Amino acid sequence: MSDCIFCKIISGEIPSATVYENDECKVILDRFPSNKGHVLILPKEHVANIFEIDPALAGRLFTLAAKIAPVMKDTFRFENMNVLQNNGPVAGQTVSHFHIHLIPRYENDGVNVSWKQLDLTDSEIEEIRKSLTDNLNL
Ligand code: AMP
Ligand code: ZN
Repeated sequence: MSDCIFCKIISGEIPSATVYENDECKVILDRFPSNKGHVLILPKEHVANIFEIDPALAGRLFTLAAKIAPVMKDTFRFENMNVLQNNGPVAGQTVSHFHIHLIPRYENDGVNVSWKQLDLTDSEIEEIRKSLTDNLNL
């Protein structure tokens, strides 16, 4: 993808603070971090989002997240973390190349990852549950 900023980072056209890479992924520091130590995990192949990625590749990227997170915790001395993965502009995705955010959380850091809770009835919950379960064919 010629106009994708993360593809340009992967090809080396745009510099990045690379933490780790292998044949299928690159791990970099977010250039405009929400917090000290904000890390991004990118597949080298251009895939836009969770709807397009090979689930097995997504699994390997999340496995990597689970391996890197405790090292970040010890390195940057934090106890809490958000693992975030945005898909589509309405969901806050600004770079249309799949990526996982690892965001260290420090006491009173002012980072805001939250939503207003809906007050659904039990029957509304059941209707939603059934519609999804009926379509799941795993
Ligand atoms: P999202 O909003 O989930 O699509 O996340 C995109 C992330 O990419 C943001 O946290 C940006 O700060 C980050 N970002 C944008 N440009 C660069 C860049 N050149 N190098 C590293 N991270 C970047
Ligand atoms: Zn890309």
